[in-house]
Amino acid sequence: MTTGQPLHRGTRRRQRSRTARNLLVLTAVVAVLAVAVVVVVLLRPPGPRPRFQLPVACGETWQLGTYPGHDDFDVDLFPTEGEAWGRPVLASYDGEVTVAGINGSLGGRTEENPDGPRGRGGGYWVKIDHGGKWETQYLHLLEPPLVRVGQRVARGDQIGKVGSTGNSGAPHLHYEQRQGWQKVEAHFDGAPSGITHDDEEYTVTRKSNNCVDGQQ
Ligand SMILES: [Zn+2]
Repeated sequence: MTTGQPLHRGTRRRQRSRTARNLLVLTAVVAVLAVAVVVVVLLRPPGPRPRFQLPVACGETWQLGTYPGHDDFDVDLFPTEGEAWGRPVLASYDGEVTVAGINGSLGGRTEENPDGPRGRGGGYWVKIDHGGKWETQYLHLLEPPLVRVGQRVARGDQIGKVGSTGNSGAPHLHYEQRQGWQKVEAHFDGAPSGITHDDEEYTVTRKSNNCVDGQQ
């Protein structure tokens, strides 16, 4: 006489295959939900443009420029007075730091050795998420950024120093404003910069109004 063992094994096998099927269905549901969330986030319209300020000290006048081969909307900032090396780089607006590190390679350009080996890419850089799909980027910083990923910053907080790390010819700040993944024309204090393409060399000077209460 047979015992209930074969039946028992069969039941277990059926239970195992049911569990596997349930897991598969659950995984598929989770995957579909994840894709749906990503699509909803991507399709959400951007928020209003934050009132970005020049990423340099209150009251200072800087030259904003671009040149052929730079990239549309990219802005290079040079001070109109004094040395660029080590000048404070300030957050253009409140936000959360999403990148604070090295892009490409640093190279070896310093104030003592300005024609040292040229690096690649952005060198030391910072990216800030301002919400509503708005982002700013700050490249070629002199030293490791003064902020870390995940840190909240307020407009006017110092995030780094002007330098010449990465693919940089001379000490300056390379700056971008982005809406989603698109670079857009940088606006400062509510006014467009006029830097929209890299077809020709173009410069404009602007005075920073990145001031906090009590400053000029
Ligand atoms: Zn640049």
